[in-house]
Amino acid sequence: MTRKTVNLLGSTGSVGQNTASLLKFHEDKFAVGVISAHSNVKDLAKQAMELRAAKAVIADEDLYGELKELLSNENIEVAAGREALIEASAEKANVTVCAISGFAGLESVMKATEQGGHIAIANKEPLVAAGELVKATAEKSGAVLLPVDSEHNAVFQVWEKGNRQAIENITLTASGGPFLNWSIDEIEKATPEQAVAHPNWSMGQKISVDSATLMNKGLEVIEASVLFDLPEDKIQVVIHPQSTIHAFVNYSDGSVLAHLGEPDMRIPILHALSWPGRLETNAPRLNPANLSELQFKQVDTQKFPALNLAREALKKGASARIILNASNEIAVAAFLKKKIAFRQITEICAEMMQKSYNNEDIQSLDGICSLDATVRRETENYILENCL
Ligand code: NDP
Ligand code: MG
Repeated sequence: MTRKTVNLLGSTGSVGQNTASLLKFHEDKFAVGVISAHSNVKDLAKQAMELRAAKAVIADEDLYGELKELLSNENIEVAAGREALIEASAEKANVTVCAISGFAGLESVMKATEQGGHIAIANKEPLVAAGELVKATAEKSGAVLLPVDSEHNAVFQVWEKGNRQAIENITLTASGGPFLNWSIDEIEKATPEQAVAHPNWSMGQKISVDSATLMNKGLEVIEASVLFDLPEDKIQVVIHPQSTIHAFVNYSDGSVLAHLGEPDMRIPILHALSWPGRLETNAPRLNPANLSELQFKQVDTQKFPALNLAREALKKGASARIILNASNEIAVAAFLKKKIAFRQITEICAEMMQKSYNNEDIQSLDGICSLDATVRRETENYILENCL
């Protein structure tokens, strides 16, 4: 059997490392083409050797020499810099795993989608900010977008394509994050260390903070709207602290198809890597006999206003989504540097969504990047003037 070629963009991150472990586990099924990181040059070199990758790309140009040196005895191509990363994202592969974090991954997602094949997409921010463009590009090239985000992967798995008309709505579950049972006063004083300590999932810093504000679930509502072509009011969210059920698809005959599994990212990642087939993992198996209780409750939108803010952005349209995403990335970074308080993350996003910007022509990739850059600058200025 010929092996599938896999490019793994963002290989040193949380999704990236999980993917790398699966590629290693199934090395007879997958051959690794490109892998990439931003600045974690040592782990990148180590992964390149372990996975026998064809090419390793480090986005930080200054680290070219170090990467070259670390791989000097290997038959692995080395490249560095943002341009090199974007170019490498376009290299042919059966599957490209998009696991860079944030809007920074958009150009890679676009290039990978242009070349076709299966796009296993974890990187949700490009879908939030430029989902229509990514989808149109996939339509043109024939690329298949395969969701890796666990809730979206779950929906994908129980979505009966042939019965599209009978799908009434979907429900995404949310663990509620580390502050689910905290009071508003306690949340006010939350520190970055507390915010990144997620109860069920071990993830990168940005998505961990998003999970604590519930902005992650808001971004996921937008992501689901893009991936499954659903309006905002057809995407429900329910708190489910155990993260055992990842999503429900609700059909008009009253049937509800749910996807269950242990909260382990290797499960959705492997599903996307092996789709339309299935391969085995050594991830833990769900045993219903051990499920003492599954709890569900409504989201407290007073405590977690980010979810409704994202819903508002989705209803407003594409510019609002770019503005929400860019301001959130800047605000989360400022919170992690202890420049703003936890509750200010969402407040700043709401503030930036009220403003108008003079470059809201967002039909093209350049237009989207330009609005994103403007909002980032404005958000930084807003923080400088109002929060420090
Ligand atoms: P991490 O922060 O752990 O990893 C990000 C990866 O992208 C690293 O390899 C990092 O390199 C690289 N990277 C970061 N910035 C840049 C940049 N500017 N240019 C090039 N490469 C860059 O993120 P996660 O793995 O947690 O998340 C990745 C994406 O997947 C996010 O969009 C997230 O929302 C989504 N996701 C993540 C889940 C999870 O379980 N973690 C679950 C569902 C979705 P370096 O190591 O050198 O910094
Ligand atoms: Mg998710």
